[in-house]
Amino acid sequence: MRRRSRRAKILATLGPASADRAAIAALYRAGADAFRLNFSHGSHEQTQALYNIIREVEESALHPIAVVADLQGPKLRIGELANGTVSLREGQAFRLDQGHAKGDESRAPLPHEAVYGALNVGMDILLDDGRIHLRVTACGEDFAETEVVTGGALSDHKGVNLPGAILPLKALTDKDRRDLAFAVNLGVDWLALSFVQRPEDVAEARMLAGPDVAIMAKIEKPSAVKRFDEILELADGIMVARGDLGVELAPEAVPAVQKQIVRAARDAGKPVVVATQMLESMIRAPAPTRAEASDVATAVYDGGDALMLSAETAVGDYAAETVDMMHRIIDRVEHDPLHRQFLEAAHTLPTATAADAISAAAHQVAQTIGATAIATYTQSGATAFRAARERPQIPILVLTPRLNMARRLALGWGLRCIRGDDARDFDDMVERASRAAHFRGYAEEGSKLVIIAGVPFGTPGATNLLHIAFIPRFTDRRDEQRPLTAGPDEAHDTRDQVRVPEIER
Ligand code: PGA
Ligand code: MN
Repeated sequence: MRRRSRRAKILATLGPASADRAAIAALYRAGADAFRLNFSHGSHEQTQALYNIIREVEESALHPIAVVADLQGPKLRIGELANGTVSLREGQAFRLDQGHAKGDESRAPLPHEAVYGALNVGMDILLDDGRIHLRVTACGEDFAETEVVTGGALSDHKGVNLPGAILPLKALTDKDRRDLAFAVNLGVDWLALSFVQRPEDVAEARMLAGPDVAIMAKIEKPSAVKRFDEILELADGIMVARGDLGVELAPEAVPAVQKQIVRAARDAGKPVVVATQMLESMIRAPAPTRAEASDVATAVYDGGDALMLSAETAVGDYAAETVDMMHRIIDRVEHDPLHRQFLEAAHTLPTATAADAISAAAHQVAQTIGATAIATYTQSGATAFRAARERPQIPILVLTPRLNMARRLALGWGLRCIRGDDARDFDDMVERASRAAHFRGYAEEGSKLVIIAGVPFGTPGATNLLHIAFIPRFTDRRDEQRPLTAGPDEAHDTRDQVRVPEIER
């Protein structure tokens, strides 16, 4: 088993190439910290089976794993073509309409009512990930006449992108609503929302999903880039979804947008995932291109929380090898002194809150005294994400009584999560954190640990305590991590919790 000392996390998408226990365990062993269930493919039954396997792997590894359910969103597709495929020539006319007949060389069905009202003459319509380019020459309530700007072979059900339009589409289709309910029931930790256009889309999903699932907004529409600040404010996490973003924007626009988004999410202390085509050529080859290795490295130098693999692990011939390669690139970058310099250069001041003040202080104190780890107690996850925001040099151990929080946080930069009972009192807090750090190899006897927590214990959002602990000689090897799945979470269980009247600051 690989010891997890990496800061940037790996999010691997599951699919036919990674659908059984051996394959998923292999991805975990190679370094996957989180898995994506892609609701654009597969039945609920298949998804349930994948979910169950992830939890088995998690249980045997005794290590919380984040599961991200990715909802398809309002993805537009053309309908069926008479012979399955047609060839479009540059300069020819091509019509899209709401007709039910199968398409041919002159027209294709585009069965999305909402599209037509958003079209204007001169607008671009992109088919098949941008490979085919049409321009609107005339449009009406249920049709669009276009001229083919870039032709090619078009086949059934190919995706349609309308970069210039804000579509009056619901953020969540009926299928998304069914998938959302299913995913929440399943117990996933994150819901990723595709094609978010407005902040309201995030709010709507949150209302439907309830409090136990974190919401990740996928940024893949120009309209989402425009209103990014408001979306970031409402979401728990962000994905730079470069696949669709690169179709809707020009490819040359993606790198700068990626850097801006990663920077802004880091400033906000919310996890940010960089996604798509990171090691694309490894779908069919055992080694990446140099450009791909450099792309992975860039996301790490920028301080992204997690890097995602899509087809590489879902349908690739070298799924586990790809995770291993990503692990090796990240690890190498994290050992480069320039990495630290870049992180610190991009660091911004803490906000004027107790949580940020304490987290920033923890980072500084740890550096000054040469502590080997920071330990945080968290209920709501806030303390842990604030600690990660500081991008400290040493590992951040997260102790939480809430299993779903430990899993959610597994996606965060540098966070190593342990599910354990909440501290009873001050001494218990120090003892538990010290044992966890010591017996997991983060702090030796005599070394120092910086602990941050909120008092009274078990109160969410009250980070107000920083303590320096010296790791003693332990006479027994007790290090309680509760079995991951046994027993309900006890987030609101107040047994044995005592108020600590006076605490050293
Ligand atoms: P997808 O999202 O893989 O669900 O399309 C990621 C992207 O568009 O980059
Ligand atoms: Mn996408």
